[in-house]
This record gives sequence, structure tokens and C-alpha cells, in this order.
Amino acid sequence: MGILDKLNAIATTRQTLLPEGVDPFNVVIEKIYSSTEGSIAGQKVILAGTNNYLGLTFDQQCIEAAQESLSKEGTGTTGSRMANGTFSGHRDLEQELALFYGCSNAIVFSTGFVTNLGMISALTGPGDVIVLDADSHASIYDACKMSGAEMIRFRHNNMVDLEKKLKRLGPRTAKTLIIVEGIYSMLGDCAPLAEVAALKQKYGAWVMVDEAHSMGVLGDHGRGMAEAAGVEQEVDFIVGTFSKSLGAIGGYCVSNHPELDLVRYVSRSYVFTASPSPSTIASVRQALRVVQSKPQLRTKLWENADRLYQGLEKLGLELGPDPGPIVAIRVATREKALFAWKSLLDQGIYVNLVFPPAAPAGMSLLRCSISAAHTAEQIDYILKVFSEMQDSFSN
Ligand code: PMP
Repeated sequence: MGILDKLNAIATTRQTLLPEGVDPFNVVIEKIYSSTEGSIAGQKVILAGTNNYLGLTFDQQCIEAAQESLSKEGTGTTGSRMANGTFSGHRDLEQELALFYGCSNAIVFSTGFVTNLGMISALTGPGDVIVLDADSHASIYDACKMSGAEMIRFRHNNMVDLEKKLKRLGPRTAKTLIIVEGIYSMLGDCAPLAEVAALKQKYGAWVMVDEAHSMGVLGDHGRGMAEAAGVEQEVDFIVGTFSKSLGAIGGYCVSNHPELDLVRYVSRSYVFTASPSPSTIASVRQALRVVQSKPQLRTKLWENADRLYQGLEKLGLELGPDPGPIVAIRVATREKALFAWKSLLDQGIYVNLVFPPAAPAGMSLLRCSISAAHTAEQIDYILKVFSEMQDSFSN
């Protein structure tokens, strides 16, 4: 038995699951024409699985801000935030994020993934408890393991179960961090955050919300689920990413706890990884301005999301419970899901294929994500293709 045996086992699984020459998990976008169109396997496709909710990857002002920074500040920082990797743009962005959320403190990390690793492992440790939604993102699970805190899962979005778990903890709730997401990344459903916040208050715990998929999407000002639910004051820590609505890469945490600033000294994923490139920071700062100055993008996003969700619902497909920019179609078997994914691609539509365990509850998913930049014609074309092929994969 060598260390490579487990990888060779994956090759066997891949062989049984994927026909020769088809690998939905290694797709190359050969050309990218806009935030909604690219080329895959020599064919022009509509990109309907990108998390590019506001379509800002091709926003002219974001591109210009990045280009200007690139020529003035160079290609990278070549160092971590704690060493030589904090330029004035990183600090400016932190202030702008704090202002946007009306919070006293903000901290910028290199990705959303390492934000969760860094924040959760800095906030909790042995002797503490993390109570997390069972459908939490992999970065949250990994962070919980890293932290050494006791990890307790509650059933997805089930407030009775959350309360049961908190009640059992007794006085330990004072050292308990509850973690939920604003919009869940796979099924696109929302956390019942007002109820989570009420339970946090009742049991004297702490709460963190990952707004990766809800920032720029929910709330009158685009601040996410906490804003939409009216509980920003009750949420202790909001984490998010620059890789979705803001169209770049990086992550952040905002909070009114001044101790957030001290996380910089203990968070290994802040101290020991290079900081985002200055041009990335420049485009994110501009994108944050766009989120604030163009609420019409959010309106358009929701119009598009509703058009797709309602159209697919009319076809009788089994969808995630809440309409929104993530529209997940549940498919009974991996084989059917793979067949449908390939048929969509052959007809010029790229969506995400998700197999368990990445998809919850043993399901396979065709995961679409919609953007403010999609046109009604693109969405109608997606609906037309789904209607023509639905018999081949509906459950
Ligand atoms: N949190 C959630 C809920 C996510 O869905 C993701 C990415 N899909 C992340 C964190 C990680 O973000 P990033 O891609 O910026 O590392």
C-alpha cells in the first residue's frame, strides 16, 4: 500500500462514472467573450453556471481600475498581509467595506475559502463549540476541523433542531459560534436568519453568516441576507468573497467587535499566504462602488432569476425550494444528470454538474447560476433547450 493508492481508486470511480472523453469537472473555457458567453470545446456557449451575479467581470470601470493599478503598482504584492503584502489599496478597501456594512472593522483575505479558515480558526478553539448548518460549504467544515472546537451540525435550515442543539449545551452557549450561509451555494435556498438571530439572542451564543452568494444579491443595499432579514445588529461576523458578485478574487470579514483587528495576528491564512494583487483590489473597490451606485443591476438579476426559475418550474422540473440566482435542478441519478449536462453543452449551454457529496442529500444537480448580464433571449433559449430534452432526465 502506497500513498498513491487512494488516488488510483479515484481513477476507477471516474472510469465508471464518466464516459471516455467527457469530464464535466475539468472543463476548459477556451475563450471568454463576456460575462455570459465563452467558448468550450470549440463551440460558443452561454455561461449559465458562473456565480457572476452582477456580471461585473467585464464592467468597463472595473477593468480600467485594474489596468491603472496594474501599470502603477505591478502584478502582485509577493507577500502576505502581515509582511510586505499590505498596500494602501488593501487598507482602503477594508475601510470601504466597513463603511458599506456600517461596521467598525473589516479585514481582507486572499480568497473566500481562506477567510473562513482564518476567521473560524481564530475565533474558536478547544473548549469552544461550533454549531453549523449541515449544508455548510467545505471551507466552513475544514475550518471547524482546524479550529479544534467541538463541532455540532444541525439539520439544514431546521430551527427546531438548532434550538435543540443549543439547549443541550447549557452554559456552554456563551462559547458557541453558530454558522450559517445567507444563500446556500448548491440549492440556492436562504437561511431563516431572523430565527437564527433570535435563537442566538435567546441562548447567548455568537453568530457568523457567510454571505458569499448573497452579497450584492439580497437586501435593499445589496449587503446580503442579514440586511434582508433586518438582523445586521445581531450578527457578530459577516464573511464574504470577492469572487461572485464582485467579479474578482479575495475574501473579507466585517464586524462591530473591535477584536476583529487582532485576528490579523493569529489567523494563519492571513499571516502565511500572499495578499490579493493590487489590480484585483482596485477592481473590487470599483465593483463595490457599482454595487452601491447601480441597484438596477440587482433588480435585473432578480428579473432574470425569476424568469429562469418560473420557466423551469412550469416545465415541472424539481427545483431548489426558493427562487433566486442559483437555480438547481434535481436529477435522480448521476447518469441522467451527466447525460443532461452533456446535452446542454452540445446545444451551447454551460451549467454546473454537481454530484454527491458536493450536492446535499445524495442528489445530483444541474446547477444554473444567473446574472444581471444575461439577456431575456439567452434565458428563453435555455428554457427552450430544457423543454426539448426534459423527458430524458426528469425524475
Ligand atoms: N463560502 C461559500 C458559501 C462558498 O460557496 C464559497 C465558494 N463557492 C466560498 C465560501 C469560497 O469562496 P472563494 O471561491 O472566494 O474561495
